[in-house]
Amino acid sequence: KDAIRDNVQRPSREVQYPIRDGKPVHTSEFFGENVFGQAQIAKALPKPAYAQFIRQKRGGRALDKSTADAIAHAVRIWAMDRGATHFTHWFQPQTGTTAEKHDAFLTMKSTHGPSGIDEISAIDAFSGTQLLQAEPDASSFPSGGMRTTFEARGYTVWDTTSPMFVQRGPHNTCVLYIPSVFISYNGDALDEKTVLLRSTEQVAKAALAVLALLEPVPVGLPPLTSMVYTTLGTEQEYFLVDRSLYVLRPDLKATGRTLLGALPAKHQQMEDHYFGHIPSRVLATMSETELELYKLGVPVKTRHNEVAPQQFELAPIFEETSLAIDHNLLTMDILAKIAHRNNLKVLFHEKPFNGINGSGKHCNWSLSTGSGDNLLDPSIKPETNYRFLLFLLATLDAVQHHGGLLRAGIASSSNEHRLGASEAPPAIISVFLGEQLTEVLDSIEESRPIKNFSVPNIKTIKLGGTALDVMIATLPEISRDLTDRNRTSPFAFTGNKFEFRAVGSKQSPSFPMALLNAAVASSLLKIVEALKTAAGDKPYPSDADKLKVIRQYIASTKNVRFEGDNYSDNWRNEASRRGLLNITSCPEAFDQILEESNSSMLCGLGVFSKSELQSRHHILMERYAKDLMLEANTLRTILAQQILPAAYEYRAALAASCAQQKEIGVSAGPELKTLNLTTPLVESLLDWIDKLDDAINTVHQHNQDPAKEARASAAYILPAMEGAREVADELEIILADKYFPLPKMSELLWF
Ligand code: ADP
Ligand code: MG
Repeated sequence: KDAIRDNVQRPSREVQYPIRDGKPVHTSEFFGENVFGQAQIAKALPKPAYAQFIRQKRGGRALDKSTADAIAHAVRIWAMDRGATHFTHWFQPQTGTTAEKHDAFLTMKSTHGPSGIDEISAIDAFSGTQLLQAEPDASSFPSGGMRTTFEARGYTVWDTTSPMFVQRGPHNTCVLYIPSVFISYNGDALDEKTVLLRSTEQVAKAALAVLALLEPVPVGLPPLTSMVYTTLGTEQEYFLVDRSLYVLRPDLKATGRTLLGALPAKHQQMEDHYFGHIPSRVLATMSETELELYKLGVPVKTRHNEVAPQQFELAPIFEETSLAIDHNLLTMDILAKIAHRNNLKVLFHEKPFNGINGSGKHCNWSLSTGSGDNLLDPSIKPETNYRFLLFLLATLDAVQHHGGLLRAGIASSSNEHRLGASEAPPAIISVFLGEQLTEVLDSIEESRPIKNFSVPNIKTIKLGGTALDVMIATLPEISRDLTDRNRTSPFAFTGNKFEFRAVGSKQSPSFPMALLNAAVASSLLKIVEALKTAAGDKPYPSDADKLKVIRQYIASTKNVRFEGDNYSDNWRNEASRRGLLNITSCPEAFDQILEESNSSMLCGLGVFSKSELQSRHHILMERYAKDLMLEANTLRTILAQQILPAAYEYRAALAASCAQQKEIGVSAGPELKTLNLTTPLVESLLDWIDKLDDAINTVHQHNQDPAKEARASAAYILPAMEGAREVADELEIILADKYFPLPKMSELLWF
């Protein structure tokens, strides 16, 4: 109760917006001020060296030493002028978060003094070699058996596609961040980013191969138009709870979610939180976070309340995928830091509270040419936009053949509580296209004219007596109908991009995006072959040839399209009739990585090597088993050390009261009745603690083999935790409030 009082009385912090000459500085003026981007590199390098850097960045040869030295020198001066004392190669190990190890610019230099004796002096230095590569003692990161201890070396290498930046800490500390990949001595990927960059390259190559068949490339084009990259916009959902209540919940602290807690009378049923007024302490946190992110060049755009109480969302403007992922990880980091400063705790867990909505990270994904031409933009007449149709169908084909793999990419012990529950995307991966696009495909397949499909519909509204004409619905009909979207679909086409909604809020988008890129790359390559076959001797396929391929792919990908309610039992039955996978458990999902058609696709494209896949499978299984073991032990401790003792205290008070009343000759009916109500629950809770112990012991027997351990965890720990929770939650409802030892859901969610 002190914690609740504390949080009510706490003053909120002021957001320190930049001021110049007494006036607010506009966002666009300080946007990216902490980033050492292409413009800064261009300024630091002589023209030929800059040209070499750009060639390298677009996939050319390695940087030469003098270019690297020049960049290193310039970035050190730039960073030190901003107060930086250290640099770090910032990378993404397979732990779902980022990693960094700081080194000072300080170097000791020895010179020969006049007496001939070395003089040691302090200088600041940073060489090209130091910029390009570091060798952290990184033997403790998960490698899934890829690095044996004798060759435990891992290398971080600067990823030149993502700009360096400085980050100022809360106490005026300042560090230069160098976005990096993390690889082994043999060049195996030990991180998320290496694989993502490989997948990007493959999907770009495959897309260019399709484009080359569709539109003869004119001679002398600037290099940008001969590039393709994928774009990503991540809608990040999260919860905020007060920190003084958070620290009283061992389950939230250890596992990120509440392992017990009865649903309070008021939760989300009033539908008054979604898009509601943003609480002031939360708005302060959001604003301060945005301020930091703007300085780091992260284009955050949208903020709002989400469906569940204390649930919020933040969305950026989309960017090239690898940069968007760096920015999403930075966003999560900074949000956590700023929330802390505002005495809040951010929860990125997919399901922190039972009974109310969980959080996702909708990954909006598309393909773009270097000149910004969106390849999934249907245009006004999609039925004749063959380029659009082929890229759309390639994505459908990718989901059709590798839906299981996409499912593996989003599987985690935490996201499991969300997938398949009735407010979240289901575990069956299907694609939603919308009515109009479905009609486009159907009409092409059936070789008939399109029904109800019309040209842009522009309406004009006159406002009062003013001369102002406001145009609404300037959007073409197709976009408008497509935005009437199906919220239940895990993978939906939304206007000019796909939205992969089943991705977890906590996870890095790297792995699911790499798998999606790879699957689409493989489908695009099949389409290249189909187009070539249809064209026969001709160098380019004719419109009739393209239509033939399109028709063939419409038919073959039909299975994976679903427009109805993805939460319904009907769909589960229908999906099983169609032979679509409905994978509800993590270990089963992880096995999809090694499944023959998936692994041969990934290895064939060079996105993963066979041993990298095996290591990935190993790490995911191990991680899952560890997560569940941690949850089981945490729950067991809370039950035995907090909930049971609380129940005993309450029972003692009731028993004492019964005894006193008996002494003065009064019947202790009501107290006895309550006491008797607690008895079976307490007994049952004791039983469940035993069952939890049995489950933990059974799982321990498999600890030599992560896959077996994971499967055993799913089979034994999950049901034991669920059973124990049910009883504990019933007990919470009976126990007098003053005996209940934890902040309740009602207190955590409404403050
Ligand atoms: P919604 O109606 O789903 O909120 P928005 O247009 O606001 O739709 O998009 C949501 C997210 O999708 C944003 O992060 C946005 O930048 C991103 N997005 C929009 N277009 C693309 C695209 N072509 N590729 C990738 N992401 C995109
Ligand atoms: Mg959206």
